[in-house]
Amino acid sequence: KTPGLDPTGATPMMAQYIEIKAANPDCLLFYRMGDFYELFFEDAEIASRALGIVLTKRGKHAGGEIPMCGVPVERSDDYLNRLIALGHRVAVCEQTEDPAEAKKRGPKSVVRREVVRLVTPGTITEDRLLDPARANLLLAIGRRKAGEGAVAYGLAAVDISTGRFALSEVAGGDLAGAIARHDPREIVLSEAIHADPALARIWQESRAAVVPLAQAELEPAAAERRLREQYGVSTLDGFGQFTRAEIAAAGAALLYIARTQLAARPTLAVPSREDGGATLAIDAATRANLELTRTLSGERAGSLLATIDRTVTANGARLLAEHLAGPLTDLGAIARRHASVAHLADDGSLRGVLREALARAPDLARALARTGLGRAGPRDLAAIRDGMAVAADLGARLAAIPDLPADLARLAGHLSEADPDLIATLAAALADELPLSRRDGGFVRGGYHPEIDEARALGQDSRKVIAALQARYAEQTGCRTLRIKHNNLLGYFIEVPQSVGEACLKGLQSEFVHRQTMVDAMRFTSVELGGLESKISGASDRALALEATVFDDCAARVLARAEQIAEVAEALAGLDVAASQAELAVELDWRRPVVDDSLSFVITGGRHPVVEAALRRAGEPFIANDCDLSGDTRGRIRLITGPNMGGKSTFLRQNALIAVLAQMGAFVPASEARIGRIDRLFSRVGAADDLARGQSTFMVEMVETASILNQATRRSLVILDEIGRGTATFDGLSIAWACLEHLHEVNACRALFATHFHELTALGDRLARLENATLKVAEHRDGVVFLHEVVAGVAERSYGLQVARLAGLPGSVVTRAGAILKSLEKAERGRPARARIDDLPLFAALAPPPPPEPPPEDRLGTLLDAIDPDTLTPREALDALYRLKRER
Ligand code: ADP
Repeated sequence: KTPGLDPTGATPMMAQYIEIKAANPDCLLFYRMGDFYELFFEDAEIASRALGIVLTKRGKHAGGEIPMCGVPVERSDDYLNRLIALGHRVAVCEQTEDPAEAKKRGPKSVVRREVVRLVTPGTITEDRLLDPARANLLLAIGRRKAGEGAVAYGLAAVDISTGRFALSEVAGGDLAGAIARHDPREIVLSEAIHADPALARIWQESRAAVVPLAQAELEPAAAERRLREQYGVSTLDGFGQFTRAEIAAAGAALLYIARTQLAARPTLAVPSREDGGATLAIDAATRANLELTRTLSGERAGSLLATIDRTVTANGARLLAEHLAGPLTDLGAIARRHASVAHLADDGSLRGVLREALARAPDLARALARTGLGRAGPRDLAAIRDGMAVAADLGARLAAIPDLPADLARLAGHLSEADPDLIATLAAALADELPLSRRDGGFVRGGYHPEIDEARALGQDSRKVIAALQARYAEQTGCRTLRIKHNNLLGYFIEVPQSVGEACLKGLQSEFVHRQTMVDAMRFTSVELGGLESKISGASDRALALEATVFDDCAARVLARAEQIAEVAEALAGLDVAASQAELAVELDWRRPVVDDSLSFVITGGRHPVVEAALRRAGEPFIANDCDLSGDTRGRIRLITGPNMGGKSTFLRQNALIAVLAQMGAFVPASEARIGRIDRLFSRVGAADDLARGQSTFMVEMVETASILNQATRRSLVILDEIGRGTATFDGLSIAWACLEHLHEVNACRALFATHFHELTALGDRLARLENATLKVAEHRDGVVFLHEVVAGVAERSYGLQVARLAGLPGSVVTRAGAILKSLEKAERGRPARARIDDLPLFAALAPPPPPEPPPEDRLGTLLDAIDPDTLTPREALDALYRLKRER
């Protein structure tokens, strides 16, 4: 915040600035001045640093110079985008009256300005600021007591750019997971929740801008009132039952939207309530580790989402991401999605027709949202025209197909509701070529509105009239270089070059009124031109005004059908997702999984979709592996040992990913998959692999492991990779051992457990449902080949040295390590010494931290320092010189 901005002694304009800035202290203020948005004081310093634009000065305030920088209005979107991406919020302050009006009030009065909008990461709607393939969520959070010291959190997920509005409630322990699933751009919450120290890490790790609101503004009664007002209802009962935490969250969301959008009111869908158990619970760490929607380094490329995305519409891409982030647990719903994919996988021609048509459908949802906010341009109306036309076309085609699976039939039903009158009106009203902004005019199709045509014709005619006039004037004055031009100051005027002859000048001066003398030209006006001016600008103003009414009329028709258009948009997205998954299944030979109520987990020929795709690009095969965790007697937990680089992590993750894909309703990369519905999915990687987190990794690993052991049920699937690796051998081994026992005895869940503690394999004899598996290796004379094949049994050796050699460790080091290994093994005969050896953290050996660079030695300097010229004999001096020369 800018301290000490005291308006006393400020110029009138600065006083206005300071007042507006004071009302928006936590935003950067874009203050409109002509063609620029200017920033002053500290805002200017922040923006110039963030945007790399020049910091200048403008006038003085309180004895100091005022720092200033500006961005051109025309390119402001780009700058806004960068500021928003950096987590800033921007208040856009426009001139809200004609400067001429201000002048009338007195020579010193300032043009009226108002903040028309706050631009924040979670409330943007412009295509240029939005990622088409990603929802742009504002997540508001409320809280209530849920008995016995427990709390529950209400979540309101709002996407202003599409109008989506979903409410849900989660138990205290699931808050982080729910936030990770929604992946919001901005989080709004009460100061109390924000200040809760137990939650601090959640906000830090969310990647969202977090905005605390004062408690006083979040009274429960106010929240309900806001909801009723938003939807114009006297009671919320018609929307379903919401908890107090959900209402609080919804109220906070609406408050924040009202505050950022000011006058504009977005059209929001009626809040839908999501039942807590409806989705597969995946906590934040598991999500990150499985790289579902982004990789550990934060990119979309390389994630599961990027690998499976074959959608052809932006709306479809967003829905796919939503499905992937929240796989289902309802068996009926899962099966219905599978049936749709199966139908479209089988019927290639229908799939082709769908995808070809969908590819032509613009982003209806976002165009509709902008229309609701009064921020739409002609192209948004055209998007609605084209999107609805595609929908009507597809709806008719699908209606003709008998026996469509239930989901497809329902989507088709929504499509065929696309209102033909609306499409026809928009088609008739809008021209073929459309300007970006409605202010530019020229978007109404010729013939649609007779008065617009008339006014335009007048404009056209006047151009002819001017041309004729120019010719006549030139003749009259004998000045052939005479031109009629136009600018805002003079309107139409006559211009002749300075070099014009004396005779011409006489003629000009007698006929016309001299207005300006330029360096190389003179300008005149005439009464006749003045009359023309008002006629022409009158006509074009009139045409613009009429176009504006046509626009408003079209927009009103669109908004009258808002609900239907939103449904159509959803239906198109749903079809796109189903067709894209079918496309993927056919392309990569993925199969329909069975998800049932059992506790089975049988994957035959499973593959890791992302690793397989990477190998495919490199022209290498992926080795498919089976996995059976269904055993009631054996095999519920599989303990996997095997050499590093053997494929343990890949195998673990592929099974988790197959489960996620199956429950999101997609086909899976396996020849067969039968999965008993999973309620919670957990995946943890040992600390040594988890470099991104930095210090205290072992603590993090233990916290996360604790949450698994405390939460996993019989229905859960648990993937543990190298647990206990982040501490000393025996600590780690004991912890891994005890965790395994707990999973087996208490959680009784299906689990895959990869470890380098070979001692653990002994548990295979003691724990009834635990079975050992390993990754096959072929040895030959020069080393080893990893076959990446999972087989029953225990790894014979760890092949650490072979891996080290493959990694390019100097031969001498490998040989020496071999010798050490032998002697260690001898010393510890009788005990499974291998464990010790495996403990050498191979990961570190593969990627050793670069040794610190020794400071470059300054040998010459040292030599020179050692020479004391006053004490040298000539002979010694000569020797010293030779030494120095040698050193060079
Ligand atoms: P580990 O966890 O045992 O150290 P990874 O799972 O990280 O091994 O696998 C190491 C590499 O081996 C992977 O990057 C991949 O290129 C390759 N790989 C793993 N599994 C397979 C497989 N089933 N088929 C082909 N290559 C594989």
